[in-house]
Amino acid sequence: MAILIDGKKISTDIKDELKVEVAKYKEQGIKITMAVVKVGEDPASAVYVRNKQKACEYIGIDSVAYELPEETSEEELLELIDKLNKDDVINGILVQLPLPKHMNEDIILDAIDSKKDVDGFHPNNVGKMMVGKETFLPCTPAGIVELLKRTNIELEGKECVVIGRSNIVGKPMSMLMLKENCTVTICHSRTKDLKEVARRADILIVAIGKPKFVTADFVKDGATVIDVGIHRMENGKLCGDVDFEQVEPKAYAITPVPGGVGPMTVTMLMANCLRSVELQNR
Ligand code: NAP
Repeated sequence: MAILIDGKKISTDIKDELKVEVAKYKEQGIKITMAVVKVGEDPASAVYVRNKQKACEYIGIDSVAYELPEETSEEELLELIDKLNKDDVINGILVQLPLPKHMNEDIILDAIDSKKDVDGFHPNNVGKMMVGKETFLPCTPAGIVELLKRTNIELEGKECVVIGRSNIVGKPMSMLMLKENCTVTICHSRTKDLKEVARRADILIVAIGKPKFVTADFVKDGATVIDVGIHRMENGKLCGDVDFEQVEPKAYAITPVPGGVGPMTVTMLMANCLRSVELQNR
């Protein structure tokens, strides 16, 4: 049986470590505050925002919520971001995506002060990550590196195949695995012989957004498999991009869905909030 990579436990461990750090800051009179901005009524976004606020509460970070109506204009949102950028009390700014269709997400994300960009999506921070400078790392990929390290999966010199090249998961994931000295291959919808390429992987990371797409024939015996996907099936249960029942018997270690990558994303956001204090005090 494969090792189950327990994202729930690992994320709780990290949150408890962060809680201690937050308490130390408080002893020095430093309070950490994150602004969470949501526009519109998307029910999934409402759940994500609530989870982020709960995590803040758990580790002792203050969160200030801005819930704006769907019809908010891009200019109004930019004005709010400008105000939060200039507000010394606010350490981190998170704008929940997706934004309503009449807004340009790139313009909005670029407007956030890169020193308060706790999602790690600002081009300045993406560039810093590329060249290996200390900065905010995108939460989902950073969480996956933590999962692998804390499960004692050896990374150096390993073949890592990442399926998916999105700006929020696939691309940054590949850069972080390169930094860990893996040999990295990035696959996407035009990759030829995807199964054959995937079978090279010692570590296979799947972020394609297609339920149970990766079956046993994509996986080398003894590979570690990380499933980023999350989908609600007709029976109401959650599944990932990997067919867990088929792949688990072949794998050395695997993340379940739910309880694998998912809990790490919010936890790494909290880690970035703490990092914001360090980055802003330089
Ligand atoms: P995305 O922006 O839709 O990107 C999907 C990527 O998969 C694209 O690069 C696409 O290639 C590639 N792809 C699609 N079909 C493929 C195929 N048949 N063969 C090979 N590659 C294929 O998705 P994303 O934002 O990265 O998210 C991926 C999944 O992770 C989703 O299920 C999402 O819900 C989940 N997710 C989970 C978390 C979490 O916290 N657990 C966080 C973020 C995302 P092209 O570039 O060629 O189109």
